[in-house]
Amino acid sequence: MSALQLYNTRARRKVRFEPLEPGHVRIYSCGPTVYSVQHIGNLRPYLFADLLRRSLEAEGLRVTHVINITDVGHLTDDADAGEDKMEVAARRAGRSAGEIAAEYEAQWKRDCLRVGCLVPHELPRASENVPEQIEMARALEEKGFTYAIGDGLYFDVSKFSRYADLARLDLAGQEAGGRIDDVEEKRHPADFALWKLPAQGVRRQQEWDSPWGRGFPGWHLECSAMSVKYLGTTFDIHTGGVDHIPVHHTNEIAQSECALGVHPWVNIWMHEEFLDFRGEKMSKSTGNIYVLDDLVAQGLEPLAYRYFFLQAHYRQQQTYTDEALRAAATGYGRLVALAAELRGAEGPVELAKLEPHRERFREALRDDLNAPRAVAVAWEVARSEDLSQAERWALLEGFDAVLGLDLANAVPRAERRESDPRIDGLIAEREAARDRKDWAEADRIRDLLAAEGILLEDGPEGTRWQRA
Ligand code: AMP
Ligand code: ZN
Repeated sequence: MSALQLYNTRARRKVRFEPLEPGHVRIYSCGPTVYSVQHIGNLRPYLFADLLRRSLEAEGLRVTHVINITDVGHLTDDADAGEDKMEVAARRAGRSAGEIAAEYEAQWKRDCLRVGCLVPHELPRASENVPEQIEMARALEEKGFTYAIGDGLYFDVSKFSRYADLARLDLAGQEAGGRIDDVEEKRHPADFALWKLPAQGVRRQQEWDSPWGRGFPGWHLECSAMSVKYLGTTFDIHTGGVDHIPVHHTNEIAQSECALGVHPWVNIWMHEEFLDFRGEKMSKSTGNIYVLDDLVAQGLEPLAYRYFFLQAHYRQQQTYTDEALRAAATGYGRLVALAAELRGAEGPVELAKLEPHRERFREALRDDLNAPRAVAVAWEVARSEDLSQAERWALLEGFDAVLGLDLANAVPRAERRESDPRIDGLIAEREAARDRKDWAEADRIRDLLAAEGILLEDGPEGTRWQRA
């Protein structure tokens, strides 16, 4: 039996994982900025964190998982120029920042549930943890890690000798390069805001009093303050997208290690790769996006997207194409159909026969969460002729605690009667045409629906339909 290995970005290699507190793992995942819709690429960080959590729980570990909700302070530029994404979105929509945040937070939560993510133990909002953030900035100021300029309070990266470590940054090169659109008074391009003051004459919707004036917290501060609040001054695993390595996570480490006097603040840093679309990262800024509802409108099930996610390793870039998604939906549909055949099976279950398969499944996940290999084991078991149906189901049901594909309940497509008022209406018209023997009209409606990918099946109980 091998040990659980996870890839630690800080070490750039897989390391053996042991929780700091025996039996209990604490995980923090950077969450959504709720200024706009969350596309299916944005769901990848949470699918990954959920796979991590479920894999650890399958090892018999207790997990405490925190995901934050960024509803203030995330600027349109990762440097400290730019505007707050929430304020921009609110102004554009003519609505309050609170309304915008509530709408997109709800969309994100709903979509996470639909792709089978377990609800985190804590979901703190940045705007509701401002005193904690001020407290941390004050601790940094007292210890001499900050300087104040007209624009706010800044962290001085020259005071923290390990600043470049996580991302292996070339700070001297950054200094020489500078950044044209950056805040002018900053001493080094990598210095970052802990507390921002609104530009002269600008009145923001979200602002708070602080020792440095009325303003708002810098984006990185929320994650340091809230992770510490819920998980303690050191914890096991911090996750996020690879884009967070050079700025956001680097800055989180600087703040936390300096304010708390700890090292390492986080034991293992884990980062997932992007979802690509048409040759680049799926991204709101390019407008190249699909949301989960777009997939559903194409007749795909949300869990087919989870199945698609599981087909690539989390550290591999995954490319979205319609064909790849449809192929995943077909694969998922077949697995559900097999599960439905197996799940009622009765008969003896020989535990000794199950163990080697369980072990192979666990081995796959212990190797830095190798989901594609784990899915392959699930398929082998589902089709194995050496196992009874009851044995196959006993294994699959256990595997699904990690895969999260709802194999115990999902209804195969062929047994499902779909319902859609417009399509049902057209089918009723077609039935009326057939009753009056107007075959041309009946065929016209069948062809019209076929062109939309709707297949009709006439049976003794009437006409059923499904999407091709
Ligand atoms: P954004 O709202 O675009 O800033 O994205 C929020 C976070 O979601 C990013 O910081 C990434 O970690 C993640 N993310 C965004 N786009 C993708 C993508 N195409 N694939 C995977 N993760 C993504
Ligand atoms: Zn974060």
